[in-house]
Parts: sequence; structure tokens; C-alpha cells
Amino acid sequence: MALQTHRPLKAVIHGAALRHNLGVARSHAPTSKIMAVVKANAYGHGLLRVAEAISEVDGFAVLGLDEAIALREAGYDQTIMLLEGLFHVDALKIASAYRLSLVVHNESQLQMLEVGKPGENPVEVFMKINSGMNRLGFAPDVFVAKLKRLESCVNVIGITLMTHFANADESIGISDQLALFNQLTSGSSYPKSLANSAAACRFPEAHADWVRPGIMLYGSSPFADSTAASLNLQPAMTLTSEIIAEQDLKPGDSVGYGSLFHADKPMKVGVVACGYADGYPRHSLTGTPIAVNGHLTRTLGRVSMDMLYADITDIADAKTGTPVELWGKQVSIDAVAQAAGTVGYELMCAVAPRVAVEFSDN
Ligand SMILES: *Cc1c(COP(=O)(O)O)cnc(C)c1O
Repeated sequence: MALQTHRPLKAVIHGAALRHNLGVARSHAPTSKIMAVVKANAYGHGLLRVAEAISEVDGFAVLGLDEAIALREAGYDQTIMLLEGLFHVDALKIASAYRLSLVVHNESQLQMLEVGKPGENPVEVFMKINSGMNRLGFAPDVFVAKLKRLESCVNVIGITLMTHFANADESIGISDQLALFNQLTSGSSYPKSLANSAAACRFPEAHADWVRPGIMLYGSSPFADSTAASLNLQPAMTLTSEIIAEQDLKPGDSVGYGSLFHADKPMKVGVVACGYADGYPRHSLTGTPIAVNGHLTRTLGRVSMDMLYADITDIADAKTGTPVELWGKQVSIDAVAQAAGTVGYELMCAVAPRVAVEFSDN
């Protein structure tokens, strides 16, 4: 047994689920190119493992130069886009050498591209427009002037216009941002990119040339009001462990730090090898769904650093060594996230480096 798998906790990444979810994204936006968003180590799933599973995708979007270089060096020939562009002009040479596409979202990045001799560091750019989220992008009133300057850059060899929605997953929707983006860009023939997962699923009018799905590829729902299963998405990660100790509770006995849970009847507790140092959310309290030997049950009390508690009172076969699913096919990561007051995105990204990761092609 490898040292890494000495503890029963592990994350299994499912290649078939990733491919299936990519197919769902394609079925929503069949005429758009797909830029798989694989930032943050592919939302915690492992950058190169995910890239391999969905290698036929049209492009990859990452945050870091290191991630982009890792993809290019692994042999991926498609578009690789840096979601926040360059942080320093020195990186331009590297970005060009690796044929990376750069988001250009502010004046300082525009200036980085304005210097340089013809043919020196040619790059493709995604020019970002702030259509209302007020995070990154050029303001609508300066867009035309900035685009002119970008067009004059001798080393810019291709321009795509992009924006990002603040509320594609909310009832407020995208109409104001979409209208503004369309008004600014309708006269131009440049390719366009607007949609994240939520907009890819719900707003065909925003599909344009490139969609940028992230969360849906990993099988988590971008919407608070729709489950992943209802969107035909399959979880790409299963986090499993085992019961490592059992405790019998008498009425009035409590469980864990802070004694937050008290038994009101005789109960049985399974102590599970997974805690907040593994990335399991400490903000989840009693009642968070968890599966023990295939039976859906609940957590009890407060999550510890390395352990948490499952209610196994009604699970006759549960004992030390019994398998537990923290999230995956039986327990949706979104349900765990909801119990912790957060979203599936945060839980996936937070899986700790100490958790053993296995890749399964199915
Ligand atoms: C992260 C990100 C996405 C992907 O969003 P999901 O909600 O995960 O689909 C798309 N576009 C940009 C600019 C992003 O930063």
C-alpha cells in the first residue's frame, strides 16, 4: 500500500463524467466553440487529468502562466487563455512563445501590448468589456477608443471581444449586460465570448462564438434552484473515506467539540476519517448529508480537523472499516455546500493537497 493511501480518505476523479458533462455543454451550445475553464487546478480535480479527459475541447482557460505552460508542454495545441491576462510585462515574451491568448482588461495591460517591434511577441487577445459586473474590463464609454489602440498594436494577431455575467445563475438574469455588450459590439465582426456555465445552460442568446463553461464540467449545478442531476450533469469527483471508530450514545450524551449535538435516545456514531484540514467545510453542522455503505444519513455536531461524525444509528451494517461517501454520486456536493452556506465551487477547490487523488477513466 502506497504511503499516500495509508489513510482511507481519497478523491476519485471520473473521466467519463467529465466527458459526459462536456457533451452536455456542447448540446446546449452546439455551434459555439468550448473553452473549458480549468483554473484553480481544474476546480480541484487536477489540471492535466481533466485536460486529458476532455482533450477534444476547443480551448482551455486558466489563471496562471504555470498552468498554461503545463498544458502547452503536455502537448495541447488548442487555444489556451489567461483569464486575467498578464500581471507583468515580462511575461509577454513567455506568453507569446507558448502561443497563449491573453485577456486584456485594463489600461496597463493595453500599454504592455503597445510597446515592441513588429513580429517581436505576437499574441491573440480577448478584450474584456465591463458590461455591469464591475470586476474586470474596459468601461463602455472608453471601449471604442481602447479597441482602436488594440487594433493598432503591431503584435496583436487576433481579437475576441468578451464579457462576464454577474447574474447568469440568478433570477435577475443577463438581459441588461447582454444588451449593453451587443450595443457596443454589434458593429464589429470580431468573435465574441460571454457565457459561463449558467449562461451556457439558460441563455442561448449569449452563446456567441465561444462559451466558457467551468462548474458544469465538474458536475455541479451553477444554479441554487436546480440540481446537477436535473441538468443531466454527473459528478466528476467522489470523495470517500471510512469509519475509523464507533461510539454508542446514551440519551443526553453529546458529540464532538463544543458538544453541539446531544442524543435524545440511544444512538450510534461513526467517526469518519475526513475533517476540515481535508477541505470538508467546518461550517456544515448537524444534518449535512453523508452516505454510509450506500445509506444516506447525516453528520452530527462539529467537524474536527481530521474527523467528522456520521449518524449510523439506523445503519445496522455500519462499523469500523465501512465505506463512507462525503460527496459524489450518492451525496451531491451541492447539498453539502448548501448545508455549509456555500457553493460546490468552493468545496471542490478546497480539497486539500493531503487528500489522495485517483483518476478513473469511468
Ligand atoms: C471562472 C470563469 C468562468 C467559468 O464560470 P463557471 O460558473 O464555473 O462556469 C467563465 N468565465 C470567466 C471569465 C471566469 O472567470
